[in-house]
Amino acid sequence: MRAFPALIHGPRAGAAGEILADPTLAACFFHPTRKAAVPCDACGRFLCALCDCELDSRHLCPSCLSEGKKKGRLDALRVRHTRFDNMAFLLTVVPPFTLIGAYFTFFTASAALWLVVAKWRTPRQALLPYNRWRFVVAGLLALAQLVGWAMVIYFIFLATRFRR
Ligand SMILES: [Zn+2]
Ligand SMILES: [Zn+2]
Repeated sequence: MRAFPALIHGPRAGAAGEILADPTLAACFFHPTRKAAVPCDACGRFLCALCDCELDSRHLCPSCLSEGKKKGRLDALRVRHTRFDNMAFLLTVVPPFTLIGAYFTFFTASAALWLVVAKWRTPRQALLPYNRWRFVVAGLLALAQLVGWAMVIYFIFLATRFRR
């Protein structure tokens, strides 16, 4: 792991972008007088060496980089992460064993199942191990609890029917 590569190597020299001598060549979207070096991987705009922001071997333009950071789409720039796997896991494991919680397992299991389905594809974060097995266990437990409730409701329905 290289924690501070700049400590040994010093900052990398920035490139200013070549001046566009041949007008038939593509120019940078942000600098019409500079030669295009790479297209942005997100929006496809041509970028000069100055506008080319490299992140995880992807080339991004400055606006896509700031947009991606704001919306949390770039995993490398993520600073916060909600542990939906732990939330779903706790929602299925804790309520059945608490005195009052057991009556609410219909709602907690539904919520856990929704979390498993909706947040299954949440991107992983480099510093945080994000295990799918918590989602799998939570999903199975939630289904078991919902099936249990369905059976209870079915038996209550049968019991009231035969009484008449
Ligand atoms: Zn872009
Ligand atoms: Zn440029």
